[in-house]
Amino acid sequence: MSTGPIPKPWIAGIHAYVPGKSAAPDGRLLVKLSANENPLGCSPKALAAREQAVHPSLYPDGDSTALREALGAFHSLDPARIIMGAGSGEVLYLAASGYAGPGDEVLFSQYSFSLYDIVARRAGADPVEAPATDYGTDVDAMLAAVSPRTRVVIVANPNNPTGTFLPRAEIARLHAGLPGDVLLVLDQAYAEYVDPAQDDGSFGLAATAANVLVTRTFSKAYGLAGVRVGWGTGSAEVIGVLNRIRGAFNVSNEAQSMALEALVDQDFVRHSRHHNAEVRTRFVTAIEALGNYGISAVPSEANFVMLLFSGKLNGETAYNGLAAAGVMTRWLPAQGLGHGLRITIGTAGQMDMIAATLRKLAETVP
Ligand SMILES: *Cc1c(COP(=O)(O)O)cnc(C)c1O
Repeated sequence: MSTGPIPKPWIAGIHAYVPGKSAAPDGRLLVKLSANENPLGCSPKALAAREQAVHPSLYPDGDSTALREALGAFHSLDPARIIMGAGSGEVLYLAASGYAGPGDEVLFSQYSFSLYDIVARRAGADPVEAPATDYGTDVDAMLAAVSPRTRVVIVANPNNPTGTFLPRAEIARLHAGLPGDVLLVLDQAYAEYVDPAQDDGSFGLAATAANVLVTRTFSKAYGLAGVRVGWGTGSAEVIGVLNRIRGAFNVSNEAQSMALEALVDQDFVRHSRHHNAEVRTRFVTAIEALGNYGISAVPSEANFVMLLFSGKLNGETAYNGLAAAGVMTRWLPAQGLGHGLRITIGTAGQMDMIAATLRKLAETVP
């Protein structure tokens, strides 16, 4: 009999996160539109800051003080109520681990971020999915799924992988319907891509409610996915809990310096938002022209679009056809989205090529 160490049963139930692919099965490098990375790269100021970071032989500031102060000043938040993470993914793990454990439930929507299932299970809690409506979070379904065991509720706004967006009134209604001892995590990984006029009110809730944590990241519009910087803001109590369990030096010297300069360079963020909105609109228009092939796009406020295939060309064939044409997208059959394909908004040229390839595939499918 094997006498090796035995993992906790809730760990054995985890399927490791599957990152977006960048190469074909034969190793050929493809245009990678599978991980919602910024096609414009990142701010040149952030790149330059890499050279000026505190020397690698020295530990970073474990409290990321300068970065928290800069974020607080920029977003009008109390820096003492900001926690930094190695990506916002770390902050999501901390939130689940701080407030849920064996016997508890972590609630999120059907068709939401696949990491939520993992963060719930890693904490030992049971993941619970509320049914989505039109591929987006359904506030009534979420509230109906709250049980006495619910400890944490997570909502991505905009949602990944579907791109849907809940307006301020819906976020407020969800919060108002939750018991005060349930932590509401509002994951705003794509907030910088949303028109500022459509602010969903998350920061206001985080500043005034005791049970709201908002998470943000430098991975998407700031273009620093490889550097691993994210953050969260909430009540002093919640931030205090998460700080007790985070890695002591979780954000590296380079990451702190680069994020600080990236934050200063709001021209780059604005340019990313405008470029994305323009190319996304153009791409969705091209997809609408494929409606008679049963191809449609879920309305998106993010830097990606979920396409749906209800005609002869199905999701899998579209995915394989685009890969053969040199583009890696995200096909998510494991999330019940075998009929969909999430495609990151790349350059206008890349998106035109994708729309043309899909038309060709739809015209030639037997
Ligand atoms: C990309 C993404 C994140 C951010 O992950 P990081 O760890 O910050 O790189 C968080 N939530 C959602 C919904 C995402 O799509």
